[in-house]
Amino acid sequence: MDVHPTEDQEELRRLARRVADQEIRPVAAAYDRSREFPRPVLERIHAAGLFDLQIPERVGGSGLSSVEDCIVQEELAAGCAGIALTLLANTLGMTPILIAGGEEQKERLLRPFTAALRFAAFGLTEAEAGSDARALQARAHRDGDGYVLEGRKRFITNGGVADLYTIFATLDGTPEGITCFAVEKGAPGLSVGREERKLGIRASNTTEVVLEGVRVPIADRIGQEGEGYRIALRTLLRSRATIGAAALGIAREALSCALDYAARREQFGQPIATLGAIEQMLGEMAMRVEAARLLVYQAAQRIAEGEASPLYSSMAKAYAADAAMFVAGEAVQIFGGYGYMEDYPVEKLYRDAKIYQIFEGTNQVQRMVIARALVKDRG
Ligand SMILES: Cc1cc2nc3c(=O)[nH]c(=O)nc-3n(C[C@H](O)[C@H](O)[C@H](O)COP(=O)(O)OP(=O)(O)OC[C@H]3O[C@@H](n4cnc5c(N)ncnc54)[C@H](O)[C@@H]3O)c2cc1C
Repeated sequence: MDVHPTEDQEELRRLARRVADQEIRPVAAAYDRSREFPRPVLERIHAAGLFDLQIPERVGGSGLSSVEDCIVQEELAAGCAGIALTLLANTLGMTPILIAGGEEQKERLLRPFTAALRFAAFGLTEAEAGSDARALQARAHRDGDGYVLEGRKRFITNGGVADLYTIFATLDGTPEGITCFAVEKGAPGLSVGREERKLGIRASNTTEVVLEGVRVPIADRIGQEGEGYRIALRTLLRSRATIGAAALGIAREALSCALDYAARREQFGQPIATLGAIEQMLGEMAMRVEAARLLVYQAAQRIAEGEASPLYSSMAKAYAADAAMFVAGEAVQIFGGYGYMEDYPVEKLYRDAKIYQIFEGTNQVQRMVIARALVKDRG
Protein backbone atom coordinates (compact mmCIF):
# COMPACT_ATOMS: atom_id res chain seq x y z
CA MET A 1 0.00 0.00 0.00
CA ASP A 2 1.46 3.37 -1.08
CA VAL A 3 1.21 5.90 1.72
CA HIS A 4 3.46 8.48 0.10
CA PRO A 5 1.77 11.87 -0.24
CA THR A 6 1.19 13.43 -3.64
CA GLU A 7 2.43 16.95 -4.44
CA ASP A 8 -1.13 18.30 -3.87
CA GLN A 9 -1.26 16.57 -0.49
CA GLU A 10 2.11 18.07 0.47
CA GLU A 11 0.81 21.49 -0.50
CA LEU A 12 -2.29 20.95 1.64
CA ARG A 13 -0.03 19.95 4.55
CA ARG A 14 2.02 23.15 4.15
CA LEU A 15 -1.17 25.22 4.14
CA ALA A 16 -2.59 23.45 7.22
CA ARG A 17 0.75 23.82 9.03
CA ARG A 18 0.82 27.54 8.24
CA VAL A 19 -2.75 27.94 9.53
CA ALA A 20 -1.85 26.00 12.70
CA ASP A 21 1.23 28.18 13.26
CA GLN A 22 -0.43 31.50 12.53
CA GLU A 23 -4.02 31.07 13.69
CA ILE A 24 -4.08 28.24 16.24
CA ARG A 25 -0.84 27.98 18.27
CA PRO A 26 -0.84 31.63 19.40
CA VAL A 27 -4.35 31.32 20.91
CA ALA A 28 -4.50 27.65 21.95
CA ALA A 29 -3.62 28.18 25.63
CA ALA A 30 -6.05 31.10 25.98
CA TYR A 31 -8.99 29.10 24.58
CA ASP A 32 -8.01 26.13 26.76
CA ARG A 33 -8.18 28.37 29.83
CA SER A 34 -11.36 30.25 28.89
CA ARG A 35 -13.19 27.18 27.46
CA GLU A 36 -14.78 29.58 24.96
CA PHE A 37 -15.89 28.23 21.59
CA PRO A 38 -13.22 29.56 19.16
CA ARG A 39 -15.56 30.83 16.45
CA PRO A 40 -13.24 33.58 15.11
CA VAL A 41 -10.39 31.06 14.73
CA LEU A 42 -12.71 28.59 13.01
CA GLU A 43 -13.83 31.38 10.64
CA ARG A 44 -10.20 31.83 9.58
CA ILE A 45 -9.63 28.06 9.20
CA HIS A 46 -12.78 27.96 7.06
CA ALA A 47 -11.57 30.90 4.98
CA ALA A 48 -8.35 28.97 4.33
CA GLY A 49 -10.47 26.20 2.79
CA LEU A 50 -9.67 23.50 5.36
CA PHE A 51 -13.22 22.64 6.47
CA ASP A 52 -15.46 19.81 5.20
CA LEU A 53 -13.01 18.46 2.63
CA GLN A 54 -15.05 15.35 1.84
CA ILE A 55 -18.17 17.08 0.48
CA PRO A 56 -18.41 15.94 -3.18
CA GLU A 57 -17.56 18.37 -5.97
CA ARG A 58 -21.01 17.93 -7.56
CA VAL A 59 -22.58 19.69 -4.55
CA GLY A 60 -19.91 22.38 -4.44
CA GLY A 61 -17.34 20.73 -2.14
CA SER A 62 -13.67 19.83 -2.58
CA GLY A 63 -14.37 16.11 -3.10
CA LEU A 64 -11.21 15.11 -1.22
CA SER A 65 -10.67 11.92 0.72
CA SER A 66 -9.88 10.60 4.15
CA VAL A 67 -6.16 11.02 3.44
CA GLU A 68 -6.50 14.80 3.04
CA ASP A 69 -8.75 14.95 6.13
CA CYS A 70 -6.02 13.13 8.09
CA ILE A 71 -3.33 15.52 6.84
CA VAL A 72 -5.35 18.56 7.96
CA GLN A 73 -6.33 16.96 11.25
CA GLU A 74 -2.73 15.99 12.09
CA GLU A 75 -1.47 19.52 11.44
CA LEU A 76 -4.29 21.40 13.19
CA ALA A 77 -4.36 19.05 16.21
CA ALA A 78 -0.62 19.61 16.64
CA GLY A 79 -1.61 23.27 17.15
CA CYS A 80 -4.65 22.58 19.36
CA ALA A 81 -6.61 19.33 19.42
CA GLY A 82 -9.69 21.05 20.87
CA ILE A 83 -9.92 23.51 17.99
CA ALA A 84 -9.17 20.80 15.40
CA LEU A 85 -11.89 18.56 16.83
CA THR A 86 -14.62 20.92 15.61
CA LEU A 87 -13.60 20.15 12.01
CA LEU A 88 -13.48 16.43 12.71
CA ALA A 89 -16.95 16.49 14.30
CA ASN A 90 -18.28 18.33 11.23
CA THR A 91 -17.14 15.51 8.96
CA LEU A 92 -18.38 12.91 11.46
CA GLY A 93 -21.82 14.57 11.51
CA MET A 94 -22.13 14.69 7.73
CA THR A 95 -20.64 11.26 6.96
CA PRO A 96 -23.98 9.38 7.37
CA ILE A 97 -25.32 11.64 4.61
CA LEU A 98 -22.18 11.16 2.49
CA ILE A 99 -22.39 7.37 2.68
CA ALA A 100 -26.14 6.71 2.85
CA GLY A 101 -27.89 9.89 1.73
CA GLY A 102 -29.54 10.33 -1.66
CA GLU A 103 -28.37 12.93 -4.18
CA GLU A 104 -31.23 15.32 -3.29
CA GLN A 105 -30.32 15.06 0.41
CA LYS A 106 -26.65 15.77 -0.27
CA GLU A 107 -27.57 18.80 -2.37
CA ARG A 108 -30.04 20.19 0.17
CA LEU A 109 -28.23 19.34 3.41
CA LEU A 110 -24.54 19.59 2.47
CA ARG A 111 -24.34 22.35 -0.15
CA PRO A 112 -24.96 25.08 2.51
CA PHE A 113 -21.71 23.93 4.19
CA THR A 114 -19.77 24.84 1.07
CA ALA A 115 -21.04 28.44 1.07
CA ALA A 116 -20.48 29.46 4.68
CA LEU A 117 -19.07 28.20 7.98
CA ARG A 118 -21.62 25.84 9.48
CA PHE A 119 -21.33 23.10 12.06
CA ALA A 120 -22.54 19.50 12.09
CA ALA A 121 -22.89 16.97 14.92
CA PHE A 122 -23.20 13.19 15.15
CA GLY A 123 -25.79 12.06 17.72
CA LEU A 124 -25.34 8.41 18.62
CA THR A 125 -24.31 8.19 22.31
CA GLU A 126 -26.80 8.24 25.18
CA ALA A 127 -26.34 8.07 28.96
CA GLU A 128 -27.04 4.32 29.00
CA ALA A 129 -25.66 3.56 25.54
CA GLY A 130 -21.95 4.31 25.15
CA SER A 131 -19.76 1.42 24.00
CA ASP A 132 -22.97 -0.55 23.56
CA ALA A 133 -24.53 1.87 21.07
CA ARG A 134 -27.02 -0.81 19.99
CA ALA A 135 -28.74 -0.24 23.35
CA LEU A 136 -29.77 3.32 22.46
CA GLN A 137 -33.30 4.24 23.51
CA ALA A 138 -34.10 7.49 21.65
CA ARG A 139 -37.36 6.71 19.86
CA ALA A 140 -38.67 7.54 16.40
CA HIS A 141 -42.43 7.14 15.97
CA ARG A 142 -44.01 7.06 12.53
CA ASP A 143 -46.46 9.96 12.25
CA GLY A 144 -48.26 10.67 8.95
CA ASP A 145 -45.67 11.50 6.31
CA GLY A 146 -42.80 11.70 8.77
CA TYR A 147 -41.45 10.75 12.18
CA VAL A 148 -41.43 12.20 15.68
CA LEU A 149 -38.19 11.89 17.71
CA GLU A 150 -37.95 11.66 21.50
CA GLY A 151 -34.80 11.15 23.56
CA ARG A 152 -31.57 12.59 24.95
CA LYS A 153 -28.14 12.33 23.37
CA ARG A 154 -25.08 12.64 25.60
CA PHE A 155 -21.54 13.92 24.97
CA ILE A 156 -22.26 15.32 21.52
CA THR A 157 -19.33 17.23 20.00
CA ASN A 158 -20.58 20.49 18.39
CA GLY A 159 -23.93 19.72 20.11
CA GLY A 160 -24.44 23.33 21.21
CA VAL A 161 -23.37 24.98 17.96
CA ALA A 162 -24.55 22.63 15.20
CA ASP A 163 -26.65 23.73 12.25
CA LEU A 164 -27.23 20.10 11.25
CA TYR A 165 -27.45 16.95 13.38
CA THR A 166 -27.47 13.32 12.33
CA ILE A 167 -29.49 11.56 15.01
CA PHE A 168 -29.86 7.84 15.61
CA ALA A 169 -33.16 6.63 17.08
CA THR A 170 -34.98 3.31 17.17
CA LEU A 171 -38.43 2.73 15.69
CA ASP A 172 -39.35 -0.20 17.92
CA GLY A 173 -36.94 -0.10 20.87
CA THR A 174 -34.66 -2.74 19.33
CA PRO A 175 -31.25 -2.39 17.63
CA GLU A 176 -32.84 -3.62 14.39
CA GLY A 177 -35.11 -0.57 14.47
CA ILE A 178 -32.28 1.99 14.67
CA THR A 179 -32.68 4.58 11.92
CA CYS A 180 -30.70 7.71 11.04
CA PHE A 181 -32.31 11.14 10.67
CA ALA A 182 -31.03 14.57 9.67
CA VAL A 183 -32.35 17.32 11.94
CA GLU A 184 -31.66 20.98 11.32
CA LYS A 185 -31.03 23.61 13.97
CA GLY A 186 -34.20 25.36 15.05
CA ALA A 187 -36.45 22.32 14.59
CA PRO A 188 -39.24 22.70 17.19
CA GLY A 189 -38.54 20.38 20.16
CA LEU A 190 -34.78 20.24 19.56
CA SER A 191 -32.76 21.85 22.36
CA VAL A 192 -29.29 21.83 23.83
CA GLY A 193 -28.87 20.37 27.31
CA ARG A 194 -25.94 20.60 29.69
CA GLU A 195 -22.55 21.65 28.39
CA GLU A 196 -19.73 19.42 29.68
CA ARG A 197 -16.66 20.76 31.52
CA LYS A 198 -13.78 18.61 30.32
CA LEU A 199 -10.25 17.55 31.31
CA GLY A 200 -8.91 18.48 27.88
CA ILE A 201 -9.97 19.52 24.35
CA ARG A 202 -11.62 22.43 26.14
CA ALA A 203 -11.99 24.58 23.02
CA SER A 204 -14.40 22.01 21.61
CA ASN A 205 -18.10 22.12 22.39
CA THR A 206 -19.64 19.01 24.03
CA THR A 207 -23.28 19.01 25.10
CA GLU A 208 -26.41 16.99 25.59
CA VAL A 209 -28.90 17.20 22.72
CA VAL A 210 -32.54 16.92 23.77
CA LEU A 211 -35.30 15.74 21.42
CA GLU A 212 -38.86 16.40 22.57
CA GLY A 213 -41.43 15.68 19.89
CA VAL A 214 -39.12 16.72 17.03
CA ARG A 215 -40.92 16.24 13.70
CA VAL A 216 -38.73 14.96 10.89
CA PRO A 217 -40.13 14.68 7.35
CA ILE A 218 -39.56 11.41 5.57
CA ALA A 219 -37.25 13.30 3.18
CA ASP A 220 -34.80 13.71 6.07
CA ARG A 221 -34.50 10.03 6.91
CA ILE A 222 -30.97 8.97 5.94
CA GLY A 223 -30.97 5.49 4.42
CA GLN A 224 -33.70 2.96 5.07
CA GLU A 225 -35.62 2.23 8.26
CA GLY A 226 -33.54 -0.11 10.42
CA GLU A 227 -30.32 0.72 8.58
CA GLY A 228 -29.12 3.19 11.23
CA TYR A 229 -26.74 1.02 13.21
CA ARG A 230 -24.93 -0.09 10.07
CA ILE A 231 -24.66 3.55 8.94
CA ALA A 232 -23.23 4.50 12.35
CA LEU A 233 -20.63 1.72 12.16
CA ARG A 234 -19.61 2.66 8.60
CA THR A 235 -19.32 6.29 9.70
CA LEU A 236 -17.07 5.40 12.63
CA LEU A 237 -14.98 3.12 10.46
CA ARG A 238 -14.09 6.14 8.32
CA SER A 239 -13.77 8.59 11.16
CA ARG A 240 -11.40 6.47 13.25
CA ALA A 241 -8.53 7.07 10.83
CA THR A 242 -9.01 10.82 11.26
CA ILE A 243 -9.21 10.46 15.05
CA GLY A 244 -5.89 8.61 14.80
CA ALA A 245 -4.48 11.49 12.76
CA ALA A 246 -5.42 14.01 15.47
CA ALA A 247 -3.77 11.81 18.11
CA LEU A 248 -0.70 11.60 15.85
CA GLY A 249 -0.62 15.41 15.74
CA ILE A 250 -0.60 15.56 19.55
CA ALA A 251 2.13 12.90 19.80
CA ARG A 252 4.29 14.63 17.20
CA GLU A 253 3.94 18.00 18.94
CA ALA A 254 4.79 16.50 22.35
CA LEU A 255 7.92 14.85 20.90
CA SER A 256 8.97 18.12 19.28
CA CYS A 257 8.50 20.06 22.57
CA ALA A 258 10.47 17.38 24.46
CA LEU A 259 13.35 17.42 21.97
CA ASP A 260 13.65 21.23 22.12
CA TYR A 261 13.52 21.27 25.90
CA ALA A 262 15.95 18.38 26.39
CA ALA A 263 18.48 20.09 24.13
CA ARG A 264 18.21 23.37 26.11
CA ARG A 265 17.85 22.22 29.69
CA GLU A 266 21.15 21.56 31.47
CA GLN A 267 21.60 19.54 34.64
CA PHE A 268 24.87 18.10 36.01
CA GLY A 269 26.66 20.39 33.55
CA GLN A 270 25.21 18.89 30.38
CA PRO A 271 22.03 19.09 28.29
CA ILE A 272 19.61 16.49 29.62
CA ALA A 273 19.20 15.25 26.00
CA THR A 274 22.65 13.64 26.38
CA LEU A 275 21.66 11.66 29.50
CA GLY A 276 21.17 7.98 28.73
CA ALA A 277 17.79 7.77 30.46
CA ILE A 278 16.40 10.70 28.42
CA GLU A 279 17.85 9.29 25.18
CA GLN A 280 15.96 6.06 25.83
CA MET A 281 12.74 7.99 26.34
CA LEU A 282 13.19 10.12 23.21
CA GLY A 283 14.02 7.08 21.10
CA GLU A 284 10.90 5.24 22.25
CA MET A 285 8.71 8.32 21.73
CA ALA A 286 9.99 8.80 18.17
CA MET A 287 9.36 5.15 17.27
CA ARG A 288 5.77 5.32 18.47
CA VAL A 289 5.11 8.54 16.53
CA GLU A 290 6.39 6.97 13.31
CA ALA A 291 4.46 3.72 13.87
CA ALA A 292 1.27 5.73 14.50
CA ARG A 293 1.90 7.71 11.29
CA LEU A 294 2.18 4.53 9.20
CA LEU A 295 -0.98 3.01 10.68
CA VAL A 296 -3.02 6.21 10.31
CA TYR A 297 -2.14 6.88 6.67
CA GLN A 298 -2.49 3.21 5.76
CA ALA A 299 -6.04 3.19 7.19
CA ALA A 300 -6.86 6.51 5.46
CA GLN A 301 -5.52 5.27 2.12
CA ARG A 302 -7.68 2.16 2.37
CA ILE A 303 -10.76 4.31 3.03
CA ALA A 304 -9.87 6.59 0.10
CA GLU A 305 -9.56 3.53 -2.17
CA GLY A 306 -12.96 2.18 -1.04
CA GLU A 307 -11.37 -0.58 1.01
CA ALA A 308 -12.24 0.65 4.50
CA SER A 309 -11.57 -2.10 6.99
CA PRO A 310 -12.43 -2.34 10.70
CA LEU A 311 -9.05 -3.99 11.25
CA TYR A 312 -6.97 -1.08 9.94
CA SER A 313 -9.21 1.78 11.16
CA SER A 314 -9.32 0.37 14.70
CA MET A 315 -5.57 -0.28 14.74
CA ALA A 316 -4.88 3.28 13.60
CA LYS A 317 -7.23 4.81 16.16
CA ALA A 318 -6.13 2.74 19.15
CA TYR A 319 -2.41 2.76 18.42
CA ALA A 320 -2.23 6.48 17.68
CA ALA A 321 -4.29 7.32 20.78
CA ASP A 322 -2.05 5.17 22.98
CA ALA A 323 1.01 6.74 21.34
CA ALA A 324 -0.33 10.25 22.04
CA MET A 325 -0.96 9.39 25.70
CA PHE A 326 2.46 7.76 26.06
CA VAL A 327 4.46 10.43 24.23
CA ALA A 328 2.68 13.33 25.98
CA GLY A 329 3.27 11.64 29.35
CA GLU A 330 6.97 11.18 28.64
CA ALA A 331 7.17 14.79 27.44
CA VAL A 332 5.78 15.98 30.79
CA GLN A 333 8.42 13.81 32.51
CA ILE A 334 11.24 15.24 30.40
CA PHE A 335 10.14 18.77 31.32
CA GLY A 336 10.35 17.75 35.02
CA GLY A 337 8.47 20.11 37.34
CA TYR A 338 8.01 22.64 34.53
CA GLY A 339 6.07 20.02 32.57
CA TYR A 340 3.45 20.00 35.29
CA MET A 341 2.85 23.74 35.00
CA GLU A 342 0.37 25.52 32.76
CA ASP A 343 3.14 27.85 31.58
CA TYR A 344 4.55 25.10 29.34
CA PRO A 345 2.61 23.43 26.52
CA VAL A 346 3.05 19.77 27.46
CA GLU A 347 0.51 19.58 30.30
CA LYS A 348 -2.22 20.62 27.81
CA LEU A 349 -1.04 18.01 25.31
CA TYR A 350 -1.21 15.41 28.09
CA ARG A 351 -4.77 16.41 29.04
CA ASP A 352 -5.88 16.62 25.40
CA ALA A 353 -4.41 13.21 24.51
CA LYS A 354 -6.58 11.24 26.96
CA ILE A 355 -9.87 11.62 25.10
CA TYR A 356 -8.50 9.84 22.02
CA GLN A 357 -8.37 6.59 24.02
CA ILE A 358 -12.04 7.07 24.96
CA PHE A 359 -14.26 8.47 22.22
CA GLU A 360 -15.31 6.98 18.86
CA GLY A 361 -15.14 3.59 20.62
CA THR A 362 -12.76 3.16 23.55
CA ASN A 363 -9.39 1.54 22.93
CA GLN A 364 -10.67 -1.60 24.67
CA VAL A 365 -13.49 -1.74 22.12
CA GLN A 366 -10.98 -1.20 19.26
CA ARG A 367 -8.92 -4.17 20.45
CA MET A 368 -12.10 -6.24 20.56
CA VAL A 369 -12.91 -5.17 16.97
CA ILE A 370 -9.37 -6.03 15.82
CA ALA A 371 -9.47 -9.48 17.43
CA ARG A 372 -12.91 -10.24 15.98
CA ALA A 373 -11.84 -9.15 12.48
CA LEU A 374 -8.80 -11.43 12.70
CA VAL A 375 -10.80 -14.39 13.99
CA LYS A 376 -13.43 -13.84 11.26
CA ASP A 377 -10.65 -13.78 8.66
CA ARG A 378 -9.56 -17.24 9.77
CA GLY A 379 -13.06 -18.39 8.85
C1 LIG B 1 -15.52 14.66 24.89
C2 LIG B 1 -16.40 13.62 24.26
C3 LIG B 1 -16.92 13.83 23.00
C4 LIG B 1 -17.77 12.88 22.42
N1 LIG B 1 -18.35 13.15 21.21
C5 LIG B 1 -19.33 12.32 20.74
C6 LIG B 1 -20.09 12.66 19.58
O1 LIG B 1 -19.84 13.68 18.93
N2 LIG B 1 -21.11 11.84 19.20
C7 LIG B 1 -21.43 10.71 19.89
O2 LIG B 1 -22.37 10.02 19.50
N3 LIG B 1 -20.70 10.33 20.98
C8 LIG B 1 -19.67 11.12 21.43
N4 LIG B 1 -18.95 10.77 22.55
C9 LIG B 1 -19.27 9.52 23.24
C10 LIG B 1 -18.13 8.50 23.20
O3 LIG B 1 -18.01 7.91 21.95
C11 LIG B 1 -18.39 7.50 24.34
O4 LIG B 1 -18.08 8.20 25.54
C12 LIG B 1 -17.55 6.26 24.22
O5 LIG B 1 -18.00 5.48 23.15
C13 LIG B 1 -17.60 5.40 25.49
O6 LIG B 1 -18.89 5.26 26.01
P1 LIG B 1 -19.14 5.56 27.58
O7 LIG B 1 -18.55 6.87 27.88
O8 LIG B 1 -20.58 5.36 27.87
O9 LIG B 1 -18.28 4.47 28.35
P2 LIG B 1 -18.73 2.94 28.68
O10 LIG B 1 -19.24 2.29 27.44
O11 LIG B 1 -19.59 2.95 29.89
O12 LIG B 1 -17.33 2.29 29.05
C14 LIG B 1 -16.79 2.32 30.37
C15 LIG B 1 -15.53 1.44 30.38
O13 LIG B 1 -15.90 0.08 30.09
C16 LIG B 1 -15.14 -0.41 28.99
N5 LIG B 1 -15.95 -1.29 28.15
C17 LIG B 1 -17.24 -1.14 27.78
N6 LIG B 1 -17.63 -2.15 26.99
C18 LIG B 1 -16.56 -2.97 26.84
C19 LIG B 1 -16.32 -4.21 26.13
N7 LIG B 1 -17.29 -4.81 25.43
N8 LIG B 1 -15.10 -4.77 26.24
C20 LIG B 1 -14.11 -4.18 26.99
N9 LIG B 1 -14.28 -3.01 27.67
C21 LIG B 1 -15.49 -2.42 27.59
C22 LIG B 1 -14.74 0.85 28.21
O14 LIG B 1 -13.56 0.61 27.44
C23 LIG B 1 -14.50 1.85 29.33
O15 LIG B 1 -13.21 1.68 29.85
C24 LIG B 1 -18.06 11.68 23.12
C25 LIG B 1 -17.51 11.46 24.39
C26 LIG B 1 -16.69 12.41 24.96
C27 LIG B 1 -16.16 12.16 26.35
